[in-house]
Amino acid sequence: RKTDVYEGRLPLYTEYEGRKAARLRSEELSGMAERMQQFLDLYPSGLSEETEEKRNINKLRILEYFGADETDWEDWNWHLRHVVRKAKILDKLIKLTDEEYQAVELANEHEIPFGITPYYLSLIDFESHREKDYALRAQVIPTLHYVNKIKDFGIDANTSMDFMLERDTSPIEGITRRYPKIVIIKPILTCPQICVYCQRNWQIKDVYSADAAISADKLEQAVQWIKKTPEINEVLITGGDPLLLSDEKIEKLLERLSAIDHVVRIRIGTRMLVTLPQRITDSLLRIISRFNVPGKREVIIMTHFEHSYEISSQTLNAVQKFRQNGMEIYNQLVYTFYNSKRFEAVALRLALRSIGVTPYYTFNTKGKDETYEYRVPIPRLLQEQQEEARLLPGTVRTDEIVFNVPKLGKNYLRAGQHHDVISILPDGRRVYEFHPWEKKISQADTYIYTDVSIYDYLERLQKSGEKISDYKTIWYYY
Ligand code: SF4
Repeated sequence: RKTDVYEGRLPLYTEYEGRKAARLRSEELSGMAERMQQFLDLYPSGLSEETEEKRNINKLRILEYFGADETDWEDWNWHLRHVVRKAKILDKLIKLTDEEYQAVELANEHEIPFGITPYYLSLIDFESHREKDYALRAQVIPTLHYVNKIKDFGIDANTSMDFMLERDTSPIEGITRRYPKIVIIKPILTCPQICVYCQRNWQIKDVYSADAAISADKLEQAVQWIKKTPEINEVLITGGDPLLLSDEKIEKLLERLSAIDHVVRIRIGTRMLVTLPQRITDSLLRIISRFNVPGKREVIIMTHFEHSYEISSQTLNAVQKFRQNGMEIYNQLVYTFYNSKRFEAVALRLALRSIGVTPYYTFNTKGKDETYEYRVPIPRLLQEQQEEARLLPGTVRTDEIVFNVPKLGKNYLRAGQHHDVISILPDGRRVYEFHPWEKKISQADTYIYTDVSIYDYLERLQKSGEKISDYKTIWYYY
């Protein structure tokens, strides 16, 4: 109160006891819930009847353009053969703003990976006013700033693109290790479409390219390395999107990993539930679920929804297929400017729980130059947890907010002792010192990070129609 963050007097219930205090408190809590609901109404999931109808029209338009039919739409290979890569074609299927068109055209000109699956395109609204679908457009259509930066870097690892310094944490090709008991294995370095802020954009040379899979020999060497490292209990198969591999290759890899006694958990990191749920075929499910053996080995699906508007009835069905086969699905959200409005992430958490996905991590967007416009100041993540997520039941706010320290891995932002503000620059940006997760267990350097400016962030929010007074407590988080 002394800080003037709160307006008016203390709530009335504080002046009473017993039933009267409880009733007044109950009214106050209802007021909070109503306010939250007003925000949530702004972010419907794609399951609403109105949105489903709109998407059906989008689907028919796309099918007509490609001279295809409903059977093709259900075939994931058809979608891969028709990934939309060119500005000219994209512009016929949805309306683009001038900047969107220019950015995609420039990406095409400089061979910067860009593509959208016909399915994901059907989730995007036809009009370019970016009312409900701005997070989806921003997710996959690069900005001019991004394209110009990448153009200047070239697809070269010697830039800030490899923010996590994976080159220094890969003991053998195809493997990344940042933790004592977990490793990442990357059998393929391509995706059906590219997230603009992708951490591995320095490694992904093209959208869905057939030659992006690691050779069978190298993959076998990576598996052998895991076999010879008995401390490893958990393997995350990622990439790229490993579900781009054929059923046979996926089965073989799961077989090889499952034959290693010390591997008790296999995670499959895939965004197919969002970009191409048609990939979750009955045969793929049979293959994956065969390796999920309770009491012996767990297979988990890790996915990446960015917004409640990305959810569709097709996604719901694909998620439920995994669930009915006894597999858990966890979501990793990248918190960007485009999904950081008041209660926007809350809407996603609620929508995810409703279809059977558990929120797991919320990542601060990596501090990469090319995605400066996507970054959100750390205080906003803390504010969101405290003032928005906290209003949800614990069964829904299950995600942990994290900052990824290059080379070392996740730093838990809510653990105050794990980072310090050490300076504020003349332009208002805060400089943080992050302590590595293994602090007090082993020696490791701290990491100095300059955050994006809170002032600039608020100004951009205001330009996008937000009421800045709704965010004013942001200054009190650090
Ligand atoms: S799904 Fe993952 S690996 Fe693929 S583009 Fe997106 S962030 Fe990168």
